[in-house]
Amino acid sequence: MRPWDDLTYLEKIFKTCRRCGLRAGCTQVVVSRGAVAPIVLVGEAPGADEDARGKPFVGRAGQLLDRMLKEAGFEPERLYITNAVKCRPPNNRKPTPEEMAACRPYLMAQLAAIRPAIVVALGATAIESMLGRAIPVGRASTRWYRVRHREHCFWVAPCYHPSAILRDPRRYSHAVERFVEIRERAAALGCPISG
Ligand code: SF4
Repeated sequence: MRPWDDLTYLEKIFKTCRRCGLRAGCTQVVVSRGAVAPIVLVGEAPGADEDARGKPFVGRAGQLLDRMLKEAGFEPERLYITNAVKCRPPNNRKPTPEEMAACRPYLMAQLAAIRPAIVVALGATAIESMLGRAIPVGRASTRWYRVRHREHCFWVAPCYHPSAILRDPRRYSHAVERFVEIRERAAALGCPISG
């Protein structure tokens, strides 16, 4: 195994990163939660709860995410959950293009090591990071995108970020239906997803 295919090795590298200014203002680098899986969920960046606890999606938005995943038939702890940007931006502002670009190699290194079949991009920042261009979430969240990274191809399924659903609960049903669709696609691709 090459060192950069080893997630434990990658995490050690991430933890010492100073590639952008975000590290100076956060408590710690937040890498992932869950397990190595054929489905990877990517959010925007850590918030206050995540920065304090060192795990992504552990605050209110994370609780909502887990609820939606369970409703769609997933076991959240059996999915790999991370963010496009690993350090908390001040006041939870959106990461700048420079910060996204600085952190993107880390996200792509995670994906190269895991080789997922499906990447769920939660919200505009994750969509932009995965597809390389900004697309309105409402439009993107009804579509699938085929992405190639090095020799590996995977599907990207954009979805609303759970924070956007907290702001507008009318999006809840759409989001759960999207997760059901993702689960069905995963089954059709032969992914070993239980639940
Ligand atoms: S946000 Fe990413 S690139 Fe910036 S310091 Fe943290 S780990 Fe490094």
